[in-house]
Amino acid sequence: MDKTPKVDWDVQQSESLYGIQDWGKGFFSINSSGHVVVVNDKLKNQKELSLYELVQDLRERGLRSPLLIRFPHIIQSRIERINSCFQKAIKEYEYSGKYFGVYPIKVNQQRHVLEEIVRFGKPFNLGLECGSKPELLIALAFMKNPGSYIVCNGFKDQEYIETALLSQKLGQNTFIVIDRRSELDLVVEAARKLDIRPRIGFRAKIYSQGSGKWMESSGFKSKFGLTPSEIVEAVDFLKQAHLLDSLELLHFHVGSQIPSIHEIKASVKEAGRIFSELCSMGAPLKFLDVGGGLGVDYDGSGHGDSSTNYSDQEYANDVISIIQSICEEKQVPCPHIISESGRAIVAHSSLLVFDVLGSHEMKVNTGALKSEPEDTPLVKELLYIYEHLDENNINEFYNDLQEKGIETRQLFSLGGLSLKQRAKAEDLYWAIAQKMAILAKGLEEAEDIYWNLQDELSGTYFCNFSVFQSLPDSWAVGQLFPVMPIHRLDECPGKRVKLVDLTCDSDGKIEKFIDTETDEWQNYLEVHSLKKGETYYIGVFLTGAYQETLGDLHNLFGDTDAVHITMTESGYTVDYVVEGDTVTEVLSYVEYSRAELIESIRLLAEEGIRSGRLSNKEARLLMRHYEQGLSGYTYHEGPEGEL
Ligand SMILES: *Cc1c(COP(=O)(O)O)cnc(C)c1O
Repeated sequence: MDKTPKVDWDVQQSESLYGIQDWGKGFFSINSSGHVVVVNDKLKNQKELSLYELVQDLRERGLRSPLLIRFPHIIQSRIERINSCFQKAIKEYEYSGKYFGVYPIKVNQQRHVLEEIVRFGKPFNLGLECGSKPELLIALAFMKNPGSYIVCNGFKDQEYIETALLSQKLGQNTFIVIDRRSELDLVVEAARKLDIRPRIGFRAKIYSQGSGKWMESSGFKSKFGLTPSEIVEAVDFLKQAHLLDSLELLHFHVGSQIPSIHEIKASVKEAGRIFSELCSMGAPLKFLDVGGGLGVDYDGSGHGDSSTNYSDQEYANDVISIIQSICEEKQVPCPHIISESGRAIVAHSSLLVFDVLGSHEMKVNTGALKSEPEDTPLVKELLYIYEHLDENNINEFYNDLQEKGIETRQLFSLGGLSLKQRAKAEDLYWAIAQKMAILAKGLEEAEDIYWNLQDELSGTYFCNFSVFQSLPDSWAVGQLFPVMPIHRLDECPGKRVKLVDLTCDSDGKIEKFIDTETDEWQNYLEVHSLKKGETYYIGVFLTGAYQETLGDLHNLFGDTDAVHITMTESGYTVDYVVEGDTVTEVLSYVEYSRAELIESIRLLAEEGIRSGRLSNKEARLLMRHYEQGLSGYTYHEGPEGEL
């Protein structure tokens, strides 16, 4: 629906409308041309790069929309930030242990991302956390820093355990974390067999109840970890095996994206107690691994599941100070702290850009507002509502309108309404809805009506991407991501729309957006009208964590093109281009062979030619399209600027 267009509009208004300062954390902003820019504070010149110009450049080079763009300097900056928060806390509290981060590979396993994390993490001895055998195999090949740690979590078989033990001979500092009691037997057995001293961690089940979308089930229900009684028994077991000095680490993980600092504090307290008790029982623990959970402020609101009510610094301060006070109280040495923040390291570093392919909007047909002799009673009643609607009867007329909407369809089905009269009734319906929405805005007693109407009246932009492939958490758990146009931000966005993707699935859409006015979410996005001959680009931000490998091939839309962009003093360089899937590749994942498909079509075409249904020329054109289709991108491939 068109808002009353504001005559003047500037980029500051766009900044506050989309909340870019709040969730952008200094990495994103808007320039005076109305483009979203990526900011790199480390550079002296050219600190800003226009995303819109970048996307146009990249498309000229042959890259396609949807396009995933990664910025390594953001990864670097996040690694530095989290480490400096812990260093600051250690200094401030005069904490006697050290801090070591480990990056959990599952958050983004892409090789180029992992390489950058390892490279930028080296000065901080950032290690790796693996939750499976394949992740361990990656960690062993990429971690080449004798000062960092590898933490092995997840279900472990003998091969996993023996590989982890043997990796110590490669110079790796590998901890094997006992997630289930039975794994301890396997570790002890393998250590004896290979004659390698294991470095063991216990994962504790934490009972402090948390909240948020990604919480592990707590206490007895949690999938991993040892209960207090298992811990006590396991310590005895290690003692008897003369391996108690191998127990170096205590680990816990209560879940990802913990929205509230109170929950973090509660779980750290509980773990700190377990730690000090274990020390008192004679376990020579030296490390406490506080797991993941450090959240990302996806909506900039500072509260709710998509945000956090704490800063990185508060997180570090609380972890350090709580452990310190428990250890001092119990007079046990303060452990080195390990944390497993993945989301907080990579979320900001990538974003998805796609083009809008077309739109569907509710248009008010003013011709319907005149009464005509052939009008049926239903149309007359709707005209009456339109003319007499005001602030005092809005509730009553809203209910009438809903009824008339149903009546229109019923009457038509029963043959009581001509197609022309049905069209007029529906045009009137939308005209009333629009007038009503304007009246309802700001009326306290009509707030529900306002939001219902906004929902009904918002149009749709058809977008060139797949939610299932590129934003799985938006679909699966209703996660909010920052979404906004990347250009024309010096113009007033006069439209409100939902975004639907290319899949044929009714869930293939984004209908949850940041609402900076209420700090909640809204079911539409403010956008600009599409212009003929100019591609309109929308960006989805903060997609670096978890979105890439959870994505699926719904409707066989495959991986998108991806690029890594390093900003430089004079512009930027394209470090990597990872081409997205071709149709042939996606089809091979579900066991179709290109050669067989082509052969099958060729035989059908031969048959068509023989029977005279198909000319030679048509057959050639069909084969060319078929083969090009197989080699092409799985997404919409229009020439740039085509609408
Ligand atoms: C998934 C996982 C993490 C990652 O946590 P984030 O807060 O999402 O980065 C850390 N540790 C373990 C054990 C995990 O399973």
